[in-house]
Amino acid sequence: MSILVVKDLEVKYGDTQVLWGLDLTIERGEFVALVGANGAGKTTFLKTVVGLLPAAAGSLHFAGEEVSGMPVEYRIRKGMAMVPEGRRLFKGMSVMDNLMIGAHFREDRPQVHEDLGKVFGYFPELERLRKRVAGDLSGGEQQMCAVGRALMASPGLLLVDEMSLGLAPVVVERLAEVLAKINVNERMSVLLVEQDVEIALELSSRGYVLDNGQVTMSGDAGELLRHPQIREAYLGLT
Ligand code: ATP
Repeated sequence: MSILVVKDLEVKYGDTQVLWGLDLTIERGEFVALVGANGAGKTTFLKTVVGLLPAAAGSLHFAGEEVSGMPVEYRIRKGMAMVPEGRRLFKGMSVMDNLMIGAHFREDRPQVHEDLGKVFGYFPELERLRKRVAGDLSGGEQQMCAVGRALMASPGLLLVDEMSLGLAPVVVERLAEVLAKINVNERMSVLLVEQDVEIALELSSRGYVLDNGQVTMSGDAGELLRHPQIREAYLGLT
């Protein structure tokens, strides 16, 4: 069963159209990548899915329900969580407070406590740093905190925007490993939006390539990685 079904999605900033008839589906428990160059429209897509931008046309079904007209809060309560580009932590607040913000809309308090334990299990560094002010953390630790905050919402679908941007390869590796584990252990669907095509497709089972606001290719992630057009355009290989 699909957790997200997007059909014919069009998004505009004023008179400027950025997404053109975009179709994308994510099955429950699936790990999907959305890749493309800078400015292709990836962030615009994520913001529209979560409700930060309105759709000009098309449909957006989440967990079996049309949510296009619904506010962000409704979609979060229904099970979406986003790790935004640039992390967007509350830098003056502690790591612990940032994590708990992720659980803001939840009413199942005992489960929230259990999920905090899970987050510390995935990222032991966050438990060690829990009293520190988030702005004092390294870039990698901040990204862990941003992922942890999204996990605290216990989402059915985790939307991750440019996780690898500006981070050292060893840190990206670590975050990627955790995302893969979460996907399997928690049976959480993941949509990973990345400029780093190689990392995204290696982690995913299926991928979509976005070019100038349109899906130009989609399919099995391994096949996309081997596709000559992708190797040339995005991986710098021939
Ligand atoms: P990046 O990886 O740099 O975030 P992206 O693939 O996520 O790129 P978007 O940020 O979605 O791309 O941008 C897609 C297009 O929409 C770009 O041409 C961008 O200039 C334009 N755009 C983005 N935000 C706005 C805005 N608030 N107003 C007008 N145009 C915008």
